[in-house]
Amino acid sequence: MGEQAPQIDEDLCSGCGDCALVCPLDGIVIEGGKAHLLDDIPCDACGNCEAVCPTGAMGVAYEVVFDDEASDADQPVLDVVE
Ligand code: SF4
Ligand code: SF4
Repeated sequence: MGEQAPQIDEDLCSGCGDCALVCPLDGIVIEGGKAHLLDDIPCDACGNCEAVCPTGAMGVAYEVVFDDEASDADQPVLDVVE
């Protein structure tokens, strides 16, 4: 996984597998009842896994925000949320 790979809170993860189903890169596997990210998949931070996770266990490191101060305010920018 790349630097944009989401963080998984194993305490919250139920192992439901929903995130693995929606990852376009097939980068998530369920092992031992928990979600795990494969190391060699270049996660593009699409956010699919975070969006479907019913427990809030999946956290993508970026979110799309609109910067009203930017000259092209209708364009989303990536903001780091750590
Ligand atoms: S953010 Fe997208 S590409 Fe990255 S692990 Fe989640 S679903 Fe897969
Ligand atoms: S969708 Fe959430 S709860 Fe389900 S396996 Fe993935 S991280 Fe765990």
